[in-house]
Amino acid sequence: MNQQARPSGRTRWNGAGAGPSPFRAGAAITAETVKARAKALGADLVGIASARTLNAFPPDPRWPQTPDRISPYVKSCIVIVQHIPAGAFRCKTNIPVQYMDMLVLRKMDKVAYRIAEELEAAGHPTFAVPAQETEWSYKRASYGRLSTRHLGVEAGLGTLGLEVNILTPEYGPRLYLTGILTELELEPDAPMTEQVCIGESCSRCLHSCPGDAVLHFGIDKRACAEHAQEFGFGQIMKFLGQVFDAQEAGATTDELAAMARSRDLFGFWQGLLRVVGSFGDCPRCLAVCPVGDDYHAHLAEHQKAIPEKTPEKVTLAKAFQQARRQGDPVAGLDDWNVRWVGPEGYKGIVARQVQAFKQRQRERAAAAERDGDD
Ligand code: SF4
Ligand code: SF4
Repeated sequence: MNQQARPSGRTRWNGAGAGPSPFRAGAAITAETVKARAKALGADLVGIASARTLNAFPPDPRWPQTPDRISPYVKSCIVIVQHIPAGAFRCKTNIPVQYMDMLVLRKMDKVAYRIAEELEAAGHPTFAVPAQETEWSYKRASYGRLSTRHLGVEAGLGTLGLEVNILTPEYGPRLYLTGILTELELEPDAPMTEQVCIGESCSRCLHSCPGDAVLHFGIDKRACAEHAQEFGFGQIMKFLGQVFDAQEAGATTDELAAMARSRDLFGFWQGLLRVVGSFGDCPRCLAVCPVGDDYHAHLAEHQKAIPEKTPEKVTLAKAFQQARRQGDPVAGLDDWNVRWVGPEGYKGIVARQVQAFKQRQRERAAAAERDGDD
């Protein structure tokens, strides 16, 4: 399709066709202009968080993921969201989700790069932080310089769910985020105070989790990684350990060669080549979460039944529900963490969304009928 044939305001997936940068050196740049530009370049959602707030409220103060540990000059964080197309969650295997994850991240990188380049050209040093990077000096395991999910909450885009993914009202947890750090002062968005996650009475993420990794507004990262990163770093280390052990135990060259021909090594190669297999391997908690218009439109029927649900998981979810009702201490909901879960608790946002979605469907059907009669 050429640009003329494109509906007005639409851009190609890589941002081509978005037109020249709206930012001018010496001219005021507002949060609204920046958000509009990010959307014109292809971002699905955009919010702004203040670096001051991010520095004051690190997700875990023991290992502070804060902008000031990256640069002392950063004033604002522009947070962009790209959703994972729902079709990938309707497939028989997880491979399409894994492949789409990679495409989504590539697209976000391009949007982030353009924003950084354009703001810099207007006189405001700006750079992007990677969405999937681990900073080993902070803490072992997957732990980036910034927590993109917390950036999203501070930028008013959603709140953390029972499995501590960020849930946005638009796409639930089926998305990735990137933070763009700038020395430009921008008006920050207010975080949502209403909990987007339905909570313990839903627990569909917990029911679906193959690794029993979902805690009470928390996650067992190691248990999750076994499934979510089938060919990730932890698995590479495990495989190498097995090879060293076999060598020490006197394995023959043929035996070692057989290990090298294993599915594991092929998986590692594939992960390096296409990212597939190195992260996002298990999308179950994303697929079954009933938050988001994309769920109502494309996944509700398909994901209704949860084959992984067991009586033990149901009992655990009920225990979580009971603990919350009784006001028992829950680490994920303590005074520090409740900020990102939604201090007001769940007030029915998903039910309201379903109503609005059904209403739009009825209106669309009525309009289609009218058009047919004309
Ligand atoms: S990604 Fe998979 S293993 Fe990890 S919490 Fe979600 S459902 Fe569980
Ligand atoms: S599946 Fe339910 S409990 Fe889990 S994050 Fe989504 S809304 Fe919350």
